[in-house]
Amino acid sequence: MKRITVLGATGSIGQNTIDLIRRAPDNYDVVAVTGATNIKQLIKDAIDLRADIAVTSDETRLAELRDGLAGTGIEAAAGAAALIEAAARPADWIMSAIVGFAGLAPGLEALTHGTTLALANKESLVTAGPLLMGKAKRLGATVLPVDSEHSAVFQALIGEDITAVERVIITASGGAFRDHPIEALANVTVAQASQHPNWDMGQRITIDSATMFNKAMELIETKEFFDVSASQIETIVHPESLIHALVGFNDGALMAHVGPHDMRHAIGFALNYPDRKTLPVERLDLAKIGQLNFRTPDPARYPALAIADQVMAEGGLSGAVFNAAKEQALDHFIAGDCGFTDMARVVQTVLDVMLTREGLQNATITLDSVREADAMARALTSEEITDTKG
Ligand code: NDP
Ligand code: MG
Repeated sequence: MKRITVLGATGSIGQNTIDLIRRAPDNYDVVAVTGATNIKQLIKDAIDLRADIAVTSDETRLAELRDGLAGTGIEAAAGAAALIEAAARPADWIMSAIVGFAGLAPGLEALTHGTTLALANKESLVTAGPLLMGKAKRLGATVLPVDSEHSAVFQALIGEDITAVERVIITASGGAFRDHPIEALANVTVAQASQHPNWDMGQRITIDSATMFNKAMELIETKEFFDVSASQIETIVHPESLIHALVGFNDGALMAHVGPHDMRHAIGFALNYPDRKTLPVERLDLAKIGQLNFRTPDPARYPALAIADQVMAEGGLSGAVFNAAKEQALDHFIAGDCGFTDMARVVQTVLDVMLTREGLQNATITLDSVREADAMARALTSEEITDTKG
């Protein structure tokens, strides 16, 4: 029996993970499930999976969670400390699927027992890659990528020598506005930006796909996860999103990972690793698909990609600043405080300002230093957006 914890169980990745667990309940012993606002789902999953504990990050919802679990013997807890405590409980496999910077601390904690951490929370690598990967190495923990592109790269590298890798190509769908007139991007709505052409995901990552902030994060994630330099990482628009990534080797071979739009593949790969087991995902009919297309991303449409290059070149805490500014700008966009194209402009401004002011490039990456950079970048982003509005 594999002891399993799902951090962010009520979200899109969390629910896909639970779908796989439900299909083979006898194989898994569920330790903890966590959520934030969707208490109904959290209660249902905790009971169905017979978890030891259910945790919400929102302390104001503890009574509701407790009521729902009364008489089941399942513990209920709430708040940041409870989340950390749940992540620290011994488990063989922990899914890190909280969205945003909030996922970093529980993910780091989960490594303590040398567990296998299935990492969907890309923000952990963007803000604190060396901290997370360093801790995993020190404690003999295994980190497996769950982001589809990184799972694809990981799979293409099995049995290969990393020094034979020339380049890693991360594909991008191009998001909701890949064919939208550039001059009309400033006026697109939150509802339009929340429609992904291929994937069904949480709202935040879907909007991040439209700006390509998601791809920017993934380029940084690639650099942090695999032992490759920024100059070896490329991105290409592939509207069908069926090739998730390609690895190019020094003999000219390109190994592509092709698969359906279903996160249960990458999640299931991480769940069954190092084995492969049958997964309930569509088998592609290549003749029916007919053709696959590729194009170079337009830097004017996707300014986020140049920001990723800057972050990879600067290093240090610039990833933490970038992520915080991006998360804060996204909050403002969703709240209707700024336009779609304002997000990249403001993130670029905040990054430039903080890089000149704070000497972030050479700072040591600790949970505290990352938190401090995160808070400063968020405040500056809100200031910048308020100033522009005013
Ligand atoms: P969702 O928004 O669907 O789910 C997020 C989860 O985190 C929910 O369980 C939510 O709880 C919980 N949560 C939200 N805020 C907090 C907080 N402050 N503290 C603790 N928990 C919180 O996100 P996704 O599942 O789409 O994404 C999760 C992660 O996986 C992200 O980092 C994303 O970038 C990454 N990812 C997602 C992919 C996808 O297909 N969705 C693909 C690749 C990567 P509740 O719902 O109860 O409020
Ligand atoms: Mg991805």
